[in-house]
Amino acid sequence: YAHYARDLRYMLSDGVVRVERLRDLPCSCPVCRRYDVETFLSLPREELEREIALHNLYVIRAELRRIRQAIHEGTLWELLELRARSHPSLLQALYRLRKYAKLLERSHPATKPAVRGRFYYPTTSAWRPEVLRHVRRLLSNYEPPSSKCLLLLPETEEKPFSRYGPISILASLLRGCVEEGLVHVVVYAFPFGPIPLELDDVYPLSQYERPRRLPLDDRLRIAKLVAAYARRFRGAYEGAILHRDVRGWGAAFYRLLLRELCGAFGAEKVSVTPVRAEEPYSSLAVRELLDEVRRLASET
Ligand SMILES: [Zn+2]
Repeated sequence: YAHYARDLRYMLSDGVVRVERLRDLPCSCPVCRRYDVETFLSLPREELEREIALHNLYVIRAELRRIRQAIHEGTLWELLELRARSHPSLLQALYRLRKYAKLLERSHPATKPAVRGRFYYPTTSAWRPEVLRHVRRLLSNYEPPSSKCLLLLPETEEKPFSRYGPISILASLLRGCVEEGLVHVVVYAFPFGPIPLELDDVYPLSQYERPRRLPLDDRLRIAKLVAAYARRFRGAYEGAILHRDVRGWGAAFYRLLLRELCGAFGAEKVSVTPVRAEEPYSSLAVRELLDEVRRLASET
């Protein structure tokens, strides 16, 4: 901070500016509160340096407090993602952290943090400890109920899926089929990948927000996670129905996922609904899906 002050560099929470470029003092620390920008800039050099140093110290202290609060709330990773956007080298550092993501997951608290709703961003959120933990636990500890068919549904904004919105309605229409062991519903979602519907109440699987459009890399990553699920549990199902949201997830996502599902269950055991790209929970698409489930039921 003092070194910066000697060069007349004024710290902000997301960067540093040369003091002569300031048009206003964008800070409410005790130093900045005393001056308007003209008076501040006209201070004698030595005094200006001292005041900048003091201001810089306040900024650092505020940032440390913010970090402590984020640790307390269990949102440190979110703060890192936010701060990483303020400079390319910070983003680079966050990318490096990816190497240690598995290690971080092992020591990440499992308890529900004080803040419930979490925000997820493209790319960097994929390595969040709670995301890796969900995937690891699902693939190693989970046992799907024995069912004839794995039914893959695209996520909706309404959460938990089993209680609100179109998935909950569909689930109640399918209740009989689920109880008879005909279908098992798994929702595919960013950033968690496959979420078995009976688990969607578990923290943090339903307390998250993400941007509506995702970059291709993030979508393909989810396709790979769902594929890993299908391979891991291929013995628990005879086949799969992939219900699509082509506008939301894109053709490349479905190409990859379909190829993987066919690899796991055999091409003749995998069906796709709706046939045409339309809203996944429109009445037409839902009717197509229910017809497909009925067709499966009649095969037994
Ligand atoms: Zn200040």
